[in-house]
Amino acid sequence: MNTLLKDKKILIMGVANKWSIAWGIAQSCIEAGANIILTYQGERNLSNLKKLTADLAGISLYQCDVTQDQDIIALFHNLEEDFGVIHGLVHSIAFANKEELEGAYYNTSREGYHLAQDISSYSLVAISKYARPLMKEGGSIVTMTYLGGERVVQNYNVMGVAKAALESSVRYLSADLGPENIRINSISAGPIKTLAAQGVKGFRSILKVYEEKVPLRRTVTQGEVGDTAVFLLSPMARGITGENIHVDAGYHTMGLL
Ligand code: NAP
Repeated sequence: MNTLLKDKKILIMGVANKWSIAWGIAQSCIEAGANIILTYQGERNLSNLKKLTADLAGISLYQCDVTQDQDIIALFHNLEEDFGVIHGLVHSIAFANKEELEGAYYNTSREGYHLAQDISSYSLVAISKYARPLMKEGGSIVTMTYLGGERVVQNYNVMGVAKAALESSVRYLSADLGPENIRINSISAGPIKTLAAQGVKGFRSILKVYEEKVPLRRTVTQGEVGDTAVFLLSPMARGITGENIHVDAGYHTMGLL
């Protein structure tokens, strides 16, 4: 237990189940004294979230499908009414059609390209816009990315291009929001076995490379990503914005493996 986020209200978007990176972040935030607010996309995840949070007092749950402007507007309207202020926002959301996460990138369909960009990248822009007025005391936004946004990672394809746009959005948003003392950064996590990750063809072989070759000779955990998110959300990171922090056991430092 620490007090880095004592009494801070942190909105976390993207908990689907106990394996979600967002759930690791939620747990680290709770350990740091935060009051967390979670969103879910559809009813299926509401029951998961209710089970996950059954033993935790005072966690609020709100519905939000990030492809729907009216959901985003309603979410922040409700948060304004219910809390008045938020101090942190975690965006841990991505989606691409499974069939576009294998084979040649040039086979990406127009529709699949738009879908991946909309959910995985544009959503950060939209929610930052509506979160801004609630960050009256300053704030910190954290989003999740992957090395496939910077380099070619086999089969990551359309999602890599969406992550590149996401990372660039972090830089543009940092310039817009900085004068209001709102910081925004991304965490580039190493591979973690989650529902979304298992949609990428060959995901298991990436895990094997980590165990054998990366500097720390292991994969990273939800908790390690969660603790980095707490750091970025907390005053400890008050001088950092527009940054991308790799929590990947050192993989990004390596050349061809
Ligand atoms: P996850 O548990 O499957 O989380 C993905 C989340 O995105 C789910 O909660 C999903 O909700 C949500 N989502 C998808 N479409 C949505 C929509 N239209 N509106 C609202 N929410 C929507 O997988 P994860 O691995 O933790 O992914 C979280 C983030 O980490 C993603 O940005 C991912 O790219 C990134 N990341 C993951 C890894 C990894 O290896 N796992 C590595 C680096 C970065 P539903 O279940 O309801 O669709």
